[in-house]
Amino acid sequence: MTKLTFFPENQKQFGEIAKGLNIESEIIQELEEPQRLVKFQIPVQMDNGENKIFFGFRSQHNNTLGPYKGGIRFHPDVSEDEIKVLSMLMTWKCSLADLPFGGGKGGVVVDPKKLSKGELERLSRGYVRGIFPLIGPDVDIPAPDVNTNAQIMAWMVDEYSKLKCEDSPAAFTGKPLEAWGLKGREEATGYGGVVILDRLSKIFGLEPKKTTLAIQGFGNVGYHFAYFAFKKGFKIIVISEIEGGIYVPNGLDPEETLKCKRARGKIAGCYCVGSVCDAFFGKKITNEELLQMPVDILVPAAVENVITKENASKIRAKYIIEMANGPVNPEALSILEKRKILSVPDILANAGGVVASYFEWLQSKEKKKWGKEKVLEGLTDTLEKAFNKVWELSKKENINLRKAAYLLAINKVAKATRKKYAIRGII
Ligand code: NAD
Repeated sequence: MTKLTFFPENQKQFGEIAKGLNIESEIIQELEEPQRLVKFQIPVQMDNGENKIFFGFRSQHNNTLGPYKGGIRFHPDVSEDEIKVLSMLMTWKCSLADLPFGGGKGGVVVDPKKLSKGELERLSRGYVRGIFPLIGPDVDIPAPDVNTNAQIMAWMVDEYSKLKCEDSPAAFTGKPLEAWGLKGREEATGYGGVVILDRLSKIFGLEPKKTTLAIQGFGNVGYHFAYFAFKKGFKIIVISEIEGGIYVPNGLDPEETLKCKRARGKIAGCYCVGSVCDAFFGKKITNEELLQMPVDILVPAAVENVITKENASKIRAKYIIEMANGPVNPEALSILEKRKILSVPDILANAGGVVASYFEWLQSKEKKKWGKEKVLEGLTDTLEKAFNKVWELSKKENINLRKAAYLLAINKVAKATRKKYAIRGII
């Protein structure tokens, strides 16, 4: 299981930007910590009859722009600090995408692979019972995150609806299609990244056929990014998974590669050009080699902290699209900047997932199903607008895209907070 690390840099980043924006200390105080942070016990009856106590967390960072929104992760490394920082990141991500949501995050300290299906269901329902009065469609709307999925959301929404004594599909997002899930949710994050790729290619005059990509991670995000980029004609020459990657100089077909991976249980040897997968077309590559490939665009779509001060000087791509959360650390970013390598920050590049969650929340509230086309159109529109705002500010102020994205996101929440206090007559 991939280890989780928490991102203290994000809190530091907030402090620096808040200072630069001349935000009042009262507002900084409100924004630098969650408005509410709960740790609670979840008693679960195990299959052997024993009662076991698990610990759950929910951090509600800020709801100035709307109800808290953010995933619930099940992982043995879950900690209060990590959940706090991730909930703050959700506030900025929702603000930047102009969604009527604030930021939240939750988690349970557990290795879900060690639980039976029944134990997992009892844990999921127990989580909801533990925080029931603090969540709801207009209060705090959780979603899947690391090691949680549509089935877990279905149990959670059912538990919530039972406790509430009313059908409440808008209390959670990331649900199964049969239970008010959204068509297009699965591919939304990867699709959103390709909207950004499209904007970059227009700005820099990149011709898809001649533009090469290396993608780290071939899970939900990496695969869908590869799929939509390939459909637009981009040439994907490297992809990888945790155990290593493949290099296919003529450009690989993501759909065929996925089929091959499913058949073999790994991507090693899946050198698929068109519908033919043959050892002749490619070779094995390590994750470290992937990061240093002479491609035009590098897409880290796996885990955090993969581009660091140790390897930033060896990156040969001209552009980076941060699809994972926190793949480029701040020290690496300043090295990349000096080397004129442009990096699109995670809170913008991977916002497609939360934008789709917003659409799912709307359709669950309105009880009116959205078609996939409408979802993808909405994603394109929302992400293009967010990208354009960030791009314009970065040009105007001559700052990097990450700083521009944080400035916009934090400023918007700070402005709304100022109004809230002005009404109350505090500031
Ligand atoms: P996933 O579990 O479906 O896939 C993860 C992929 O990364 C797998 O291919 C795995 O083999 C690979 N991987 C894991 N550890 C690695 C390592 N050390 N080196 C190289 N590859 C490694 O996860 P996902 O849903 O695709 O999420 C990927 C990233 O995107 C995560 O950082 C996640 O937080 C972020 N993200 C996901 C979504 C979403 O909607 N799924 C939304 C926003 C952000």
